[in-house]
Amino acid sequence: MQPPFKIYNTLTRKKEVFKPINPPLVGMYVCGPTVYNYVHLGNVRTFTGFDILYRYLLHLGYKVRYVRNITDVGHLVDDADDGEDKIGKKAKLDNLEPMEVVQKYTNDFHDVMNILNNKAPSIEPSATGHMIEQIKMIEDLLEKGFAYETNGSVYFDVRKYSESHEYGKLSGRNIDELLSGQRELDGQDEKRENIDFALWKKATKGHIMRWPSPWSDGFPGWHLECSVMGQKYLGKTFDIHGGGMDLKFPHHECEVAQGTACNDVEPVNYWMHANMLTVNGQKMSKSLNNSILPNELFSGNNPLLDQAYSPMTLRFAFMQAHYRSTMDISNEALKAASKGYRKMINGLRLVKGLSYSEDSAIEKDAKLNKQILSIIDSVYRGMNDDLNTAVAIAGLFNLLKKINGIHLGQIKIPALEKEVFDKMVNTYISFVEDVLGFIEEKPQNLESAIEIVLQDYKEAKEAKDYDKVDLIRGQLKVMGISVKDMKDRIEWAYDEQ
Ligand code: AMP
Ligand code: ZN
Repeated sequence: MQPPFKIYNTLTRKKEVFKPINPPLVGMYVCGPTVYNYVHLGNVRTFTGFDILYRYLLHLGYKVRYVRNITDVGHLVDDADDGEDKIGKKAKLDNLEPMEVVQKYTNDFHDVMNILNNKAPSIEPSATGHMIEQIKMIEDLLEKGFAYETNGSVYFDVRKYSESHEYGKLSGRNIDELLSGQRELDGQDEKRENIDFALWKKATKGHIMRWPSPWSDGFPGWHLECSVMGQKYLGKTFDIHGGGMDLKFPHHECEVAQGTACNDVEPVNYWMHANMLTVNGQKMSKSLNNSILPNELFSGNNPLLDQAYSPMTLRFAFMQAHYRSTMDISNEALKAASKGYRKMINGLRLVKGLSYSEDSAIEKDAKLNKQILSIIDSVYRGMNDDLNTAVAIAGLFNLLKKINGIHLGQIKIPALEKEVFDKMVNTYISFVEDVLGFIEEKPQNLESAIEIVLQDYKEAKEAKDYDKVDLIRGQLKVMGISVKDMKDRIEWAYDEQ
């Protein structure tokens, strides 16, 4: 028997059986990228991790509303509460409109998600598209007494909130330490406490990203957008909220506070955090200058890489590590992943070519049937144990041993019960394609393959073996390629007939 689907909840620090509020619907929110630069492999790891969760929930039969936002305003340099907007800064640097920056890097993000076969979310809202809702939530927080205005900016009152609620419970921080461990406010500061965070900031003179509000021409705080969009599309309390581990504090801690203060309910039931991709043990980050970009990986054009690696190799490498563990990117891991991925896809090609047959002369092998069912169970056990993809893949490789056995004639298909055979085939295909999201990367060097065939064609022509000549011509035509006999050479072109 398979155990139920359990996920690790950052909020309770426990693996918990997943129970949606309103099954079969599942509401899932993942913090999307701040689109001021190309996404790096670290960002990609986190989004791929949540793609697996999304896919597995669908596989389990849930209907998932998956919201992943685009942060296009409010995320300030150094994740601070003062200073330049990351997008505004980039726009000035590159002499672009802020929304041009947003579009450029959103396009890049989408391209990368597609090439890795990550599914698009159900809704992809942006912060700038929800200004009215953000202003409304600030008004609610002011009215409830959890926020205050100073000089046209509005801040969340953490001390006030912590009188009735537990600020710090998500990230495991102690409110007294947070309140006492801060620098002295110098009287110039607009905040009452250093850990208070901005809900609305009045724009300074040079700040280009600004909107009108009841308090000032300004812009919303970074933490607000996710509370607002999560609530708008998934409700005041929804099932799952995810993001990278580095967002746990302050971003998600602030979201918990905003949602709770506003609605007096827990905003999220399961908080999930994906761990960091590292380079030589250090977090991959734009600011540390150790980023590897997807295109650099696919072309091999980065000093840290020995060679190019394909998108599916990267996907396989991600799945060899658990999403809550850090993962160090290395040539060794990628080379092993490349082999693993090919083995898995060879299995897929084999299994798709199998069909069931009965033979009264061959007895059913009860032990083998039982073994196969138990391997299938192990695949689910892996996924049900907080998405342990490495265990699930090990299970699939065990299944592959049986599939190879059939291919080599060591296992006779009629020795399997039809139900077991179908389950084996369906599990392998659905896990590889639907749950883990692998696609077959076809060989790129089609042109060299055609040249080899044309060499054969030329030799057949010289030997006047016209049957073979016609055969090659016919087969290439089926593939959409026509052979052209020129005076002094043989060429090919795409068939136009
Ligand atoms: P950002 O664009 O910086 O907001 O990041 C987008 C997502 O990538 C967030 O969920 C981050 O937590 C995540 N992220 C950033 N750096 C890394 C990293 N080195 N490894 C894994 N995830 C990361
Ligand atoms: Zn967020």
